Amino acid sequence: MRTTILGYPRIGAHRELKFATEDFWAGKIGADELEATAASLRGSVWTELRDAGLDTIPSNTFSFYDQVLDTTVMVDAVPGRYRSLAGLDRYFAMARGTAELPPLEMTKWFDTNYHYIVPELALDTRFQLAGGSAAKPMAEYLEARKLGIETRPVLVGPLTYLLLAKPTPNSPEEFTPLDLLDSLVETYAELLERLAGAGAQWVQFDEPVLARDLGAREIDALGRAYRRLGSLPSRPKILLATYFGAVTAESLRVIASTEVEAIGLDFVAGPGNLDAVASASGLARKTVVAGVVDGRNVWRADLARVKSTYAVLLGFADKVELSSSCSLLHVPVDLDSETALDPAVRARLAFARQKVAELVGLAADLRSEDPSAAPLPVVPADPDVRARLEALGDAQRADRAVRFAAQRAKLGLPELATTTIGSFPQTAQIRKARADHKAGRTDENAYVEAMRAEIARVIKLQEELGLDVLVHGEPERNDMVQYFAEQLDGYAATDYGWVQSYGSRCVRPPILHGDLSRPKPMTVEWTAYAQSLTPKPVKGMLTGPVTMLAWSFVRDDQPLAQTARQVALALRDEITDLEAAGIGIIQVDEPALRELLPLRKADQEVYLAWAVRAFRLATSGAADSTQIHTHMCYSEFGEIISPIADLDADVTSVEAARSHMELLPYLTEVGYANGIGPGVYDIHSPRVPTAEEIEDNLRNALQAVPADRLWVNPDCGLKTRGYPETQAALANMVAAARTVRATV
Ligand code: GLN
Ligand code: ZN
Repeated sequence: MRTTILGYPRIGAHRELKFATEDFWAGKIGADELEATAASLRGSVWTELRDAGLDTIPSNTFSFYDQVLDTTVMVDAVPGRYRSLAGLDRYFAMARGTAELPPLEMTKWFDTNYHYIVPELALDTRFQLAGGSAAKPMAEYLEARKLGIETRPVLVGPLTYLLLAKPTPNSPEEFTPLDLLDSLVETYAELLERLAGAGAQWVQFDEPVLARDLGAREIDALGRAYRRLGSLPSRPKILLATYFGAVTAESLRVIASTEVEAIGLDFVAGPGNLDAVASASGLARKTVVAGVVDGRNVWRADLARVKSTYAVLLGFADKVELSSSCSLLHVPVDLDSETALDPAVRARLAFARQKVAELVGLAADLRSEDPSAAPLPVVPADPDVRARLEALGDAQRADRAVRFAAQRAKLGLPELATTTIGSFPQTAQIRKARADHKAGRTDENAYVEAMRAEIARVIKLQEELGLDVLVHGEPERNDMVQYFAEQLDGYAATDYGWVQSYGSRCVRPPILHGDLSRPKPMTVEWTAYAQSLTPKPVKGMLTGPVTMLAWSFVRDDQPLAQTARQVALALRDEITDLEAAGIGIIQVDEPALRELLPLRKADQEVYLAWAVRAFRLATSGAADSTQIHTHMCYSEFGEIISPIADLDADVTSVEAARSHMELLPYLTEVGYANGIGPGVYDIHSPRVPTAEEIEDNLRNALQAVPADRLWVNPDCGLKTRGYPETQAALANMVAAARTVRATV
């Protein structure tokens, strides 16, 4: 019984890599110093994994920014525009851009919150092993060996690399990156030969793309790539690692037919892998690397479950090794730092360091006659919450016609009503006031005063600008999920639970560990204060159930759908309290609705059904005359247009400026008949849009939506912007709305 993991956090237990990288960018340290920090982080990870007793240890899991970008550099697929730069300057130019060059595109790594840099490939891209024997996987392998540690270099598999790449903009229509397979595989072949020459025993090819739906051509490419790599006369043994879901029996058969020695399967995100294994013969001569410890969530493993998985697998494979379900990149480094956590919650948790120990312990337990691992503690239930949810069932709002009439009568808003998405610029002063309060450097009164002053300033500004529906500006919120998590029972925050999101950016997701309840109102005081300052309607701001789950570590002892309903219930109560405080418009943000969409088509319908149901439950207690808004931001709405309509919010604001309002006709097609606010300008850039271009966008939108249902708003919240550009942009937005309003 051997143990391994597929990868480990690279940022360091105290985000050392983040700070060193940012110092390098700021010119405070040189490349040598950055490299030295990196080497020391790599060395301490390898040493730690060896000392923990793990049998095989991955390398090449370090990255200055992203492993997909590292692959682009390694196979020399650097787009021409960056080639005048060299070394780290070139590398970071691709990742973040320079004053002259925009960066490569960045997007989410499967359904995680990690982001990779999208390779940009052309018909004439010719891969080659840049640096030869100095290529990164070689260098890391040799570096570890110098420390006396034999490692297994981890590579992004050729299929995954090509399927995540996009063609350069001027490519011929029929070109797809997969056309470049043979050239890429030959480059990997050269690397494998060199690694074998250096003494490497194993390599790991990561192919998470096998958890997606693949077509015949892609399955064919899978077989072709690994038959070729498997047939190399001189090479390390190959572990083909899949994760983030189950692979199909067909893919598994194709892999089994190659000379690949080991297959990694994720039994946490893909319980269906057990069936795939049972129906794919040909594994008898292979090793199955069984991902039984969750690499994406923070809970301790369930020994009973591991045991039964292991027993089934032994019937099919030659050897079974225990592993993490995917790289541990997606969990925080060390639970031992969390001294303030409730011990009962802590007892259920394992971060990366603890997961490694768990694997070693699980293996020992499986070997011994007398297993020692304690069963997982049972999560106490809150009978009140459960009874209320049962009684509510599928509560619904009245028909839209009834609601719209009531809202028109109560709110009396103009056509093409103007509003914003919620947050206003978070100035250094606001951040400082929050930080001082959190650290206990200022008392409650001073903090409340500072926040009130900011709210008053934002209200005054919006009145001067002439906006129709105002917001309080969210100065009190550090983060749209954490703010609510901190106030709900059943949620815990960590002190050092950082996880890499992209580059040097790390997030600290809260932990949703038990039944949720709301001890007291969460937003009412701030919102009501804002409303007291103005006769115009102030829109309350809440974060929706799906987004709360997407950006947290969520308990895995019950279906997500059930947990979503508990969040929804707390929001429903908050809406009731906001209404009682005189708030007539409430926005429930769901920017993560698309993000949690399952990778496989077959699973999407079930997800969308519970996501919509949770949103509807959250908003079902609102009076007919209360206008419910929602907000979403991402450019690919394709798969979720009809669920957006199903949410049945009275008004939906969406990101649209960069995609030129493409989405509107589709919304109409699926029967969306409520208010819609397609963002009229891009808030991701400090550029101030002209009134004319906003007018164009509005006239464009009016082709698909009548004026009484069209709203005028930016693409997203303004918190990352500065005040000068925000003020100028909103002034132009209001002017444009007035001009267009006068002509309809
Ligand atoms: N109300 C939030 C804000 O304005 C919405 C943020 C988001 O869409 N991610 O910041
Ligand atoms: Zn947004």
